[in-house]
Amino acid sequence: MKVTEHINQSNKTLISFEILPPLKGKGIQSLYSHLDPLMEFNPSFINVTYHRSEHIFKKKLDGSFEKVVVRKRPGTESICASIMNKYNVDTVPHLICGGFGINETEDALINLNYLGIDNVLVLRGDAAKNESSFEPEPGGHKYAIDLLKQVTDLNNGIYLEEDLKNTNKTKFCIGVAGYPEKHFEAPNMETDLRHLKAKVDAGADYIITQMFFNNEKYFSFVKDCRAIGINVPIIPGLKPIYSKKQLTILPKTFHIDLPKELSEAVASCKTDLDVEKIGQEWLLHQSIELKKYGVPVLHYYTLGRPLLVANVVKDLL
Ligand code: FAD
Repeated sequence: MKVTEHINQSNKTLISFEILPPLKGKGIQSLYSHLDPLMEFNPSFINVTYHRSEHIFKKKLDGSFEKVVVRKRPGTESICASIMNKYNVDTVPHLICGGFGINETEDALINLNYLGIDNVLVLRGDAAKNESSFEPEPGGHKYAIDLLKQVTDLNNGIYLEEDLKNTNKTKFCIGVAGYPEKHFEAPNMETDLRHLKAKVDAGADYIITQMFFNNEKYFSFVKDCRAIGINVPIIPGLKPIYSKKQLTILPKTFHIDLPKELSEAVASCKTDLDVEKIGQEWLLHQSIELKKYGVPVLHYYTLGRPLLVANVVKDLL
């Protein structure tokens, strides 16, 4: 079922989770152990992130270096199918521009369609580690909107081979990313919102936000979106804080602010267990307020601490 169908058929705030594919070398069981404690909350859908391959330089025995391609977390599409089979829950594979040519993208979408997956979250992806800024594959998509248009084309039965006859129309429900604190490359919020609106006008069915720790940022983002005619559901993305290291890692990696009250409380903790307690309380408080505001879905980034997220959702319901 589509994410938008879940939202339209419910008059209460839904729950969803995001997971990462296991690191290469780990089995699917590690992922099930991560998900098992979360499934009792009947999530409406589970998002599975996509991780592009990276080029690294590996030292050889003779001291020289060779360039090798590694992919740390493969398997997004098949993991989605496995989760659907095991838990009978809808899944949302993330699909990115980075590392994909348009033919590979089409094949990936065809596979997802064969697997009975109704949703995709389309993203640009970040620059590869060896790039100073995002570089598409030759002939690949530069922005998420270009990838989105390829998905809407397929939803209209338009494939890359123009002479195909009587083609099957896919019916993907399409999500896109939004940034309550602005995407870090955008020169200002207005420009970023204009680009977001372009994605919605091109066919995005809903938005999932980057994580934020101050609900006011989400509220004013929604207000600004509505003011420029973005009328699709805006799903807040939420993450627990659970270690002191995150005080620097989260702002650096995700270009977000941590509220002073939260950062000071975390900084004064003696152990990471104390940080977990603070993080859990903060996430619960955020969730209660967002639920009261009437958000369609609370979407939790579960990496690292599924039990912490489970505790929050248990207290919330
Ligand atoms: P876009 O919408 O393409 O925007 C990127 C930048 O370009 C923005 O600054 C925007 O303002 C600007 N822009 C857009 N259109 C134009 C245009 N026409 N002209 C000029 N500028 C333009 N990354 C992964 O690799 N895998 C994942 O699974 C993943 N999941 C994510 C899930 C969520 C909910 C979020 C919020 C992010 C996720 N990311 C993931 C990270 C994401 O790929 C990065 O934030 C990336 O830098 C931007 O992706 P986007 O889809 O927002 O890009």
